Amino acid sequence: MKLKIQSPYLNLGNYIWAKGNLHTHTSVSDGTFSPQETIDRYISIGYQFLMFSEHDLIAPLNGLHTNGMVIIQGNEITDDGPHLLHVNAKKKVEPYPDRQKVLNEIQQDSGFAIISHPNWEEDFNHCPQEFLEVWEHYTGIEIYNGIVRHLPGNPSATDRWDLLLSHGKWVWGYANDDAHWEESFGVAWNVVQVETLTRDNVINALKKGNFYASTGVEIQKIDVKENTIYITTTSAKKIAVVVDYGRRIKEVHENSIEFEINDNFPYSYVRFEFWGEGESQAWTQPFRLI
Ligand SMILES: [Zn+2]
Ligand SMILES: [Zn+2]
Repeated sequence: MKLKIQSPYLNLGNYIWAKGNLHTHTSVSDGTFSPQETIDRYISIGYQFLMFSEHDLIAPLNGLHTNGMVIIQGNEITDDGPHLLHVNAKKKVEPYPDRQKVLNEIQQDSGFAIISHPNWEEDFNHCPQEFLEVWEHYTGIEIYNGIVRHLPGNPSATDRWDLLLSHGKWVWGYANDDAHWEESFGVAWNVVQVETLTRDNVINALKKGNFYASTGVEIQKIDVKENTIYITTTSAKKIAVVVDYGRRIKEVHENSIEFEINDNFPYSYVRFEFWGEGESQAWTQPFRLI
């Protein structure tokens, strides 16, 4: 049987990459800077989209000068259980202790949900894996949360992601700052593929997996031709091919990779991890093999 690669990426030449953060607190909840100062900071470091995610409230966006930046309305469901992001929130969803009820309401609101920082806290278990395995109607998890660099736990959660993907739970990996104060800006972001920079296009790309997550490595091009995946970056020094249960099956010490998958490939997905200078990394979304 012929194996097929299901790529989450657009195979057209006709797109731009746009960078943004989906997890931002301002002085409206427990962040240092006002919403306007926060927008200005992100514009100055080259971001093209930003979501405000105050704790259990939707901050009003009127009166802000956005200078072309796409602003997404959001909320971080916080009280009474594991935190999660409500992206493109039209109405506030209450932080019901039953998080499945929260996820159902987010879906009805036509937004989507991302589970925040699963490996935060002293037990490295802010969100238990058994919840992630059974919950429905969330789009993905934060595989990197910048502020957890300064808190107990692990900012990375690719371990959780590989478990979910290996069990057939198809969710995307997002990287976010969880910006609160100075040092937490510009640490981790998502880069979407869009034809033009509009709010709808950005939200769609984030929902459908047309994006990669990064803490510094920049991907230029992702192409699939026949059974080969081609990826080029500007700044990777090392690239790894990761499959089911996090197994690393290939590493190259270069800034690009060409990976061919033959018909007897015994895994259900492949994804790519990149390392550059210092702690900088990037992660593609998984390519499903069917
Ligand atoms: Zn949180
Ligand atoms: Zn947060």
